[in-house]
Amino acid sequence: MAKISINIASGSIEKSAVVVGIDLGTTNSLVAYVPKGQKQAQIIPVRGNGIVPSVVHYNEHEVPAVGAYAKAQLLLSPERTVYSIKRLLGKSYSDLTQENLDLGYRIVPDTLDNKVNVQIGSHVYNPIEISAEILKELKTQAELALNARVEQAVITVPAYFNESQRQATRDAGKLAGLEVLRIINEPTAASLAYGIQSQAIGNIVVYDLGGGTFDVSILHIEDGVFEVLATHGDTLLGGDDIDREIVNYWRKQAAPTEIGDFADLRHWAEKAKIALSENSRGKFTHALNSEKQLELDFDILAQLAEPILQKTWNSVKKALSDAGLTPDQIQEVVLVGGSTRFPRIAEKLTQEFPSSRINNQINPDEVVALGAAIEADVLDGNRSDVLLLDVTPLSLGIETAGGLMDVLIPRNSKIPVRVGREYSTSVDAQINLMVSVYQGERELVEENRKLGSFVLGGIPAMPAGMPKIEIQFALNADGMLKVQAKELRSGVSQSVEIQPSYGLTDAEVEAMLLSGFTHAQSDVTLRLLRESQNEAHQIIYTTERFINKNSNLLSAEELEGTKQRIEAVRGLIEQDDRQLLQTAIDKLNDFSRPFAERVMDIAVSMALKGNRIDELK
Ligand code: AMP
Repeated sequence: MAKISINIASGSIEKSAVVVGIDLGTTNSLVAYVPKGQKQAQIIPVRGNGIVPSVVHYNEHEVPAVGAYAKAQLLLSPERTVYSIKRLLGKSYSDLTQENLDLGYRIVPDTLDNKVNVQIGSHVYNPIEISAEILKELKTQAELALNARVEQAVITVPAYFNESQRQATRDAGKLAGLEVLRIINEPTAASLAYGIQSQAIGNIVVYDLGGGTFDVSILHIEDGVFEVLATHGDTLLGGDDIDREIVNYWRKQAAPTEIGDFADLRHWAEKAKIALSENSRGKFTHALNSEKQLELDFDILAQLAEPILQKTWNSVKKALSDAGLTPDQIQEVVLVGGSTRFPRIAEKLTQEFPSSRINNQINPDEVVALGAAIEADVLDGNRSDVLLLDVTPLSLGIETAGGLMDVLIPRNSKIPVRVGREYSTSVDAQINLMVSVYQGERELVEENRKLGSFVLGGIPAMPAGMPKIEIQFALNADGMLKVQAKELRSGVSQSVEIQPSYGLTDAEVEAMLLSGFTHAQSDVTLRLLRESQNEAHQIIYTTERFINKNSNLLSAEELEGTKQRIEAVRGLIEQDDRQLLQTAIDKLNDFSRPFAERVMDIAVSMALKGNRIDELK
C-alpha cells in the first residue's frame, strides 16, 4: 500500500489505492490483498474474520443488507433473502433446473429477454445487481479495514463458467464501482496461492468443491509459470447438493407427515453435515418440535454424499485424460472449497493418487481469494515472479457448410490466443457472408452453444471460391472473444466482441463436454455424411455449370450420361446413406473426368493462342 498523501488544495487526506483479489463465492465471499513490499497475500479482515456470506437480504423498504445479518434472515424471511445467486448469474430462465427453482425466494423470467430475475415483494432484481451488492459490501468493508481506496480488482469464477457468466461477473464488478482488471479461474487462483507458498514444481490437481460448484484443474507449475493443462467441472454440483440429499432423506424418513419447510430443514442439514465432518463418530440430533427429531450419523451422510463425490471423481478422471496424465504423474493434489473439509474427499483422493501429496495446508475457504490477490499484485506491476497461462474450457469455432462446426480454438488451448483461418464463398457473386460463432465439442453446430453471429457485407462479387475471407478469433486472458472477418482482396472487414447469448438451456451448456465424448463416434459418422452431402451439392453445381458452358464441346452421350449421373447424386443427397452417395459421386467424377480433361486441354491451348480461359468455362 502506498503512503497516505495530503491533498493540499482541498486540505483533505487522499487515501492510497489498493488493488484487491476477490473470491465471489456461491456461499461465501472474501477479499484479499498483498501489502506493499510483501510477497504473501492476506485476507482483509472485513467484519471480523473476512468471510462474508454471499447472501443479500432486502427489507420491506428494499434496502439491501449483505453478509452474516442477511444470512440470519434466511430462516426468518426466506422470500426476501437471496443466497446462491452465483448459480443464477448469466443465465436465462429456461436454463434453470428444478434445483434452481427450489431456492426459497421467487425467481421470475424477465418479460423482455427471458433472463432470470429475482422478485422480492413488488421489486424485481437481476442477478447482476444482487451480486453487485455483495461486491459493494466487500469493497466498502475493505476500504474501512485498510483505510484505503479499493477501485480495482481481480475477481475469480469457476473454470467452468461460460462467456455469459464471466461477462455477468464483470458487469457486477462494474456496477459495484470496481474496475475488473481480470477474471481468473478459481482453481488457477488457488494454485497461485499454493505455488507461491510451496514453490511447487510439477503437475498439480486442484480439486475445488464449494457450496454450489465443482471445478477440477490440472496445472503444471515450473519456475513461477502456472500453466493450466486441462479443466473440467460442473456449475451445479457442491455442498448444497449434499444438504439437499440430507433434507430428502429426512423427508423420506418422516413420510407421510410433513416435517417443516425446505429452508428450515436445509439449515439443519448443513449444520449436521459440518458437525459430522468434524466428528465422524458422533451422531447429529436436533429436536424440530416436541414430536419430531432430526437425526443423522456419519455412515448415512457418507452414503448420501457418495453419488455427489462419484460425479466429482468422474470429472477428475476426464481432466486427467485430457491433460494426458496418469495419477502417478501428479505431484500434488490441492483441496479448495469449504466442502473439501468433508473427510471422505481427502480419503478418496489419497486412494486414487497414492504417490501424490494431498495438500490442504491453506485454509480452503481463503485460498482462492489469496491467489486472486497475488494476480492483482502482478497486474498492479509489483512483481514479475509469476506468469499465468490459462486455458479455454470449451472449443470455439464457426459454422461452415452443412451446419458443421469448424473449430478455430480447440478446448484447453492456452489463452490469450489468436487464431486465423481462411474461408471462401460457395456460390458465385456472393456479397454477404454470415459468420456464426459457437462454443462446444460436437461436430454439428446445432448441438453446440451459439455465442453470436454477424454478417460480413460488401464482399466484391466474384466467382465462388475466389474471395479470401480470413476469420480471426482472439481470446483474451479474461476469456472474452473478439471475432473478426476480413475479405483480404478488397480489405472489407467486420468484427464483433462476442456478446453473451442467453438463448440455450444451461443443461445443454453443462452437458457439452460430456456429450462431446459420448457422441464422438456418431458425430464422426454424421460429419462424414454431411461432408459427402456438401461435396454432392458442390459437384452438382460445378458439373452443371461446366456442361452448360461447354455443351458444344461434348457429345450427346457425354451430356446425357452426365445428366443421368447428376440426377442419381441429387436423388441420394437426402437419403442419409453416405456409402451410396459417395459411390454416386465417384461414378459422376469417373464419368466426367475424361471429357473434363479434354475440354481443359482445349482451353489451355486456346489460352496459349491468346484466348481467355474464362470464355471457355
Ligand atoms: P464455499 O462455496 O467454498 O464457500 O463452500 C461452502 C460449502 O462448504 C457449503 O456447502 C458448506 O456447507 C460446506 N462446508 C463448510 N464447512 C464444512 C465442513 N466442515 N464439512 C463439510 N462441508 C463443509
